[in-house]
Amino acid sequence: MVKKERFDRSDIRKLNAISVLNQLRRQGELSRAQIANQLGLTRATVSSIVSDLIDSSLVKETAFTEGVTGRPGLLLKLNPDCGCMIGVEIDLDRISVIVADLGQEVIWEAEEGIEVGIRPEKCLSMAEELVKEGLSRGKDRGLDCFGICVAWAGLVNRYAGELSYGPTFGWEHVPLKSTWEKRFNVPVFVENEAHAGAMGAFHFGPTEGTLNLIYLSIGYGLAAGVFTDGVLLRGQNGYAGQVGHSSFADNQIVCGCGKTGCWVTEVGARAVLRKLADIGLNLPSNDAVDIVKSIDDLLQSGDARVKRVLESVGRQIGRGLAPMVQTFDPSQVIIGGRLGRLLKHAEPAIRKGWEEEVLPQMSETLQISVSDSHQDHLMGCLATVFDAVMKNPPIGAKG
Ligand SMILES: [Zn+2]
Repeated sequence: MVKKERFDRSDIRKLNAISVLNQLRRQGELSRAQIANQLGLTRATVSSIVSDLIDSSLVKETAFTEGVTGRPGLLLKLNPDCGCMIGVEIDLDRISVIVADLGQEVIWEAEEGIEVGIRPEKCLSMAEELVKEGLSRGKDRGLDCFGICVAWAGLVNRYAGELSYGPTFGWEHVPLKSTWEKRFNVPVFVENEAHAGAMGAFHFGPTEGTLNLIYLSIGYGLAAGVFTDGVLLRGQNGYAGQVGHSSFADNQIVCGCGKTGCWVTEVGARAVLRKLADIGLNLPSNDAVDIVKSIDDLLQSGDARVKRVLESVGRQIGRGLAPMVQTFDPSQVIIGGRLGRLLKHAEPAIRKGWEEEVLPQMSETLQISVSDSHQDHLMGCLATVFDAVMKNPPIGAKG
């Protein structure tokens, strides 16, 4: 028999506190009156919650501001001196790390190339060194770490805290959460890289107020993070969004997952390299760090063949997006990931491919854009840690 759950006053105060913290995350600095107005809460409720948040050091008062009634009020913001968060992205050819304070100002970031085909133990040991350095950079600022989040391509079981299967890496059952929590003594989270990208775009991207968005992450792998009505769809294990392995083309090309004709075999980084090779442009396939730059350099030099290849890939991205748009009815689609920088050159082709396939009524208000930021995934990792920290704010039952 299911136990009946009841919300009490303390639960409601916690939910309101989470809303206050989220408003400050989105908008930076706000007065108590502005928060009360935006959340539809009484000024007394907000003042009481803010008092607890200030006592717990999560929030601090800053400068005075003129209120609408002419009465000066103190502005509030997330306290950057309260602690730090660490985001890590493990890609096929590099590890990237970012450290930010609670106010989400980046304190330190670093990137290290890794050998393609590296064993998980060696890769994780390199990542650990970067995390250690990040923790030490935080300590230099007097900041303890709230948590670490690692973004990975593949089937990431966020509940078990492991990379269950990485078709791009060929790794299986890499338990990161338990290992790193013992090693670093802070909470550790794992995210699929597309989910992390979606979190980054949702919280930090040019999508303010967007509740329905699809973030398509394209690199050597291809996956999607989907927000529906403000909720990231993760699925029972956290595997949702593996759209790159949907059957797409009758090309007999064997994908990393073992099947043939997956969408990623036509639009992922290896597909771009293959299509360039087909027209005689052989770029070194084992030097992935430079691939995006090498292709971008060719584009900048005015090589029309490269542009044509990217346009052809872009059109197939657009075609593959259409069923997703029809399934989820988003207001925004953002295409990011490692190839984002290159796909900027193919935006019209992406739009064309998608317009050819999608029901026209569903495209009228849809915005589609390419993100060339290299930080979507890392910022999403920070948002994951932030959400975990804020899930249970230290709020009393008073008020
Ligand atoms: Zn596949």
